[in-house]
Amino acid sequence: MIDSAAQLIAEESHWGAPNYEPLAVVISRGQGAWVEDVNGRRYLDCLSAYSALNYGHCHPRLVAALVDQAQRLTLTSRAFHNDQLPAFCKELSELIGMEMVLPMNTGVEAVETAIKVTRRWGYRIKGIPSDQAEIVVCDNNFHGRTTTVVGFSSEPAYRSDFGPFTPGFRTVPYGDIEALKAAIGPHTCGFLFEPIQCEGGVLIPPPGYLKAAADLCRGRGVLLVADEIQTGLGRTGRMLGCDHEGVKPDIVILGKALAGGLYPVSAVASRAEILSLMNPGSHGSTFGGNPLGCAVAREALRVLRDEGLVERSAALGNWLLEELANLRHGHLREVRGRGLLIGIELDVRSRPYCEQLMEAGMLCKETHDHVIRLAPPLITSHEDLEWALGRLRTVLAE
Ligand code: PLP
Repeated sequence: MIDSAAQLIAEESHWGAPNYEPLAVVISRGQGAWVEDVNGRRYLDCLSAYSALNYGHCHPRLVAALVDQAQRLTLTSRAFHNDQLPAFCKELSELIGMEMVLPMNTGVEAVETAIKVTRRWGYRIKGIPSDQAEIVVCDNNFHGRTTTVVGFSSEPAYRSDFGPFTPGFRTVPYGDIEALKAAIGPHTCGFLFEPIQCEGGVLIPPPGYLKAAADLCRGRGVLLVADEIQTGLGRTGRMLGCDHEGVKPDIVILGKALAGGLYPVSAVASRAEILSLMNPGSHGSTFGGNPLGCAVAREALRVLRDEGLVERSAALGNWLLEELANLRHGHLREVRGRGLLIGIELDVRSRPYCEQLMEAGMLCKETHDHVIRLAPPLITSHEDLEWALGRLRTVLAE
């Protein structure tokens, strides 16, 4: 029999640019928390496309919404109105307690949008002199891959030979409130942060940091800009990652799970006084706010509520973290997480362990070399997670 997986991998590496290093599995089907490779072998998906698949693969309600909308209207551009965008903006705003939404497509586009909105607020409301606005960002951040965004990354692999970069960003250590205090100056318009640094290795800031940062920003006239692209919509056991400290950001950035992994939909949500600064001509996107994406996202938000996925993430995550705390392995340094976002930190490279887990039928991926990230779909059953726990106990045995 021809090994079709090996053939497809060879073809991809011949014709596709090598900007990723995937595990050697070629997936051809997915349903719920499980996927199947081209040779018919099943795996539990414990990565969920970095939280985009919070509802699992091919959720029947999302597929139905996609097919239904695709048969009626997919795209108008924003040259004309469509009948899905108004309800999408209203329903998302109400869900997260905001007043207005600016829709985009990928996560990094929404981050770029938030940067523009924050700067515009800095000039037009705070009165910062032209072209001197500064945004404070965190060391070890991950906000996406455009040249502006990698320009303020501290990861050499993301930046190397892509300069020159956009000025106007100042970096502080993550979790260090004194450093944030010192970095804020008269020209600072925003503080852009992740409530948990996911790509950075599932790093949770010290207790009280988000609250202290929010108070500081409020006191100094600086917008609190939360990148909730990976932490938002239930992943950490709360609707938003910031909810863990009762913090309400000025600007929330969402993506990934917003349309359940069926379609790229991202959004910037904020108060009307802030987003109203984005007048016609200031920003746009051919696909942003398209009716197909909006219809799927609307159904995804209903599924999130109907299936109680935020509460489910909290309950399953607490249980899983408690179980994982009993792991004893010579190279294990720490297990940490919130909800169904869990990092298992080793003192050696974690990739070989991800490969062993794959052999055992469970897909996860290393992040920052030493951490195994577990982020299964929020719909994963307790039974399937028990099964995964068994695999982890075997691969990370004493
Ligand atoms: N921000 C965060 C926190 C992310 O985790 C990601 C993607 O992993 C992004 C931004 C970029 O999103 P996208 O890959 O959809 O551009």
